[in-house]
Amino acid sequence: MRKVMSKMNWMFLALLTVTVMAVAQQPASAPQNPQPVAATQPGQTAAQPSQAQSNLAAPTTMDQVVDRVILREKDLIKFLSPRTPIVETYLQDLAQDPQLGPIPQDDHYFLGRMDLRESIDRSDYLQDKGKGEGMERHLLGEITRKFKFQYQPLGFSWMIFVDRNDFDRQHYDFHYARREFLGDVRCLVFDLTPRKDAGRGRFLGRIWVEDQDFNIVRLNGTYARPSRNSYYFHMDSWRLNLIPGYWIPAYIYSEEGDFTAGAKNKIAFKAQTRMWGYNLKTGTVNDELTNIRVDSVKDDTPTAQDATPLAAEREWQQQAEDNVVERLERAGLLSPEGDVDKILQTVVNNLEITNNIELPRPVRTRVLTTSPLETFSVGNTIVVSRGLIDVLPDEGSLAMVLSHELAHIVLGHNLGSQYAFNDRMLFSDEGTYQNLGFKHIPEEEAAADKKAIEMLKASPYAQKLETAGLFIKALQARAPQLSALLQAHLGNNIAENGTVTRMAQLGTSAPALDWNKLDQIAALPLGGRVKLNAWDDKVEIVKAQPVAITSARDKMPFEVTPFFPRLSRYGTANTPAATTATAPSTTATAANASATPTN
Ligand SMILES: [Zn+2]
Repeated sequence: MRKVMSKMNWMFLALLTVTVMAVAQQPASAPQNPQPVAATQPGQTAAQPSQAQSNLAAPTTMDQVVDRVILREKDLIKFLSPRTPIVETYLQDLAQDPQLGPIPQDDHYFLGRMDLRESIDRSDYLQDKGKGEGMERHLLGEITRKFKFQYQPLGFSWMIFVDRNDFDRQHYDFHYARREFLGDVRCLVFDLTPRKDAGRGRFLGRIWVEDQDFNIVRLNGTYARPSRNSYYFHMDSWRLNLIPGYWIPAYIYSEEGDFTAGAKNKIAFKAQTRMWGYNLKTGTVNDELTNIRVDSVKDDTPTAQDATPLAAEREWQQQAEDNVVERLERAGLLSPEGDVDKILQTVVNNLEITNNIELPRPVRTRVLTTSPLETFSVGNTIVVSRGLIDVLPDEGSLAMVLSHELAHIVLGHNLGSQYAFNDRMLFSDEGTYQNLGFKHIPEEEAAADKKAIEMLKASPYAQKLETAGLFIKALQARAPQLSALLQAHLGNNIAENGTVTRMAQLGTSAPALDWNKLDQIAALPLGGRVKLNAWDDKVEIVKAQPVAITSARDKMPFEVTPFFPRLSRYGTANTPAATTATAPSTTATAANASATPTN
């Protein structure tokens, strides 16, 4: 036992070997056939999945249920094979704090596109990023030195399927455990163990299967029999019924480590992996040509006049803004316009009205689909990341975030006019961060902060700035450990070298930060506010009942937590109807009505 421990300690490795081995055991078919599974499985008469599904009689024995589960899983693999969803993993290394328990000590961020065609492959959005060498190598090198510990980004997204090539009775024993509800969905629960001769890297754990069409909706476990010097993470993988007939892999939570007294292995981390952008168009030239939009060709300006130089300048800026917004959306990095934007816009309106700000064009807001805490603006569009909205404790702190970008717009900082040239939009999605950037010079940052604080003090949020200041303080307390979360990819960093710079002045006037004060909520965990639809990239505010905080350890500011989505069948619940009702009110109290953790 001790020997095993020390070996794990020596080198953890979430490996690609799963892919490699699975392919190796699948001779002939794997490399070239885009659907290797369908080619080898006898049960695979189902070429048109949904049709076949409706033709099949309901299973009457547990054996028939298992057959159906296998069939549905293979169908999902086939259905997803042409797609290239975005995969994001955010990981926090943990250290034991005597008072707060395991808290982040360091963090890492991965963002890429998954290619689900043959084996699961990925390409990264993040390249070099000023670190001088390949990110992965850099990362691995650094972690190895520090923790003797290795991560492979792909390791975290592996568990979207049970077993891509060999999910069948020849490789697995299925043991029915019980029935159980996950959210609104009744499930059959099976424990899966690989057969003795099934080889390395086979799934070991539990699956939940919904009891109508027998799709897997959750997997929880690890992979068995790692090879020497390798290690498979434990994972909890969730799928959502986002389109009719299919349950789409959306979230994976991983966690390793043991902080009990006497445990030898003090290495620990927790990680959230999110997948989205399944329905993104993989833009080919032909694709573009068949989708030419012909709306808004007509010039609808009231009088047919030529543009003055200033009007032309504004038109030009708007063209740049539209180009950028459209390009980011196409790359899966910007959520389509929706209800969350209405909430953000209401806050912006409150700032504008009380400060008598009149702009030639209305300010728009959009949500970046990623986790790192960042904001930027292009033209009159303010963009805030999903992760940042997640961790903000209240509307006042949201106003603080938005006021900084609004100040840039009011001060005329947001030119970005180079993006009005359309050739500048011609880059691969993975090249987004290399080709777009909206960073301001330090002088503009300082001017925007100053203007923002003026605006906040004249706004309805003037009395709510204490919490905003506490947020800055909490961020400052964690900033040295959260450099990956605080690394902006398109806008300015909120913190530089572990010191919060953005709106730092508000922190100085805030009350003292006190983790033990249970009613003082300075920042929320990640993932608590905004829900991202993995299929169409839309975002909505999470509708969750607040859970009372009972100890300082419950606060978990900026932390990664397990996923527990409320499962429901497509079209039965969580429909947008409920969200529109809470959207814009004139004073924008809707922003935190549903998601504040206490009170
Ligand atoms: Zn700025």
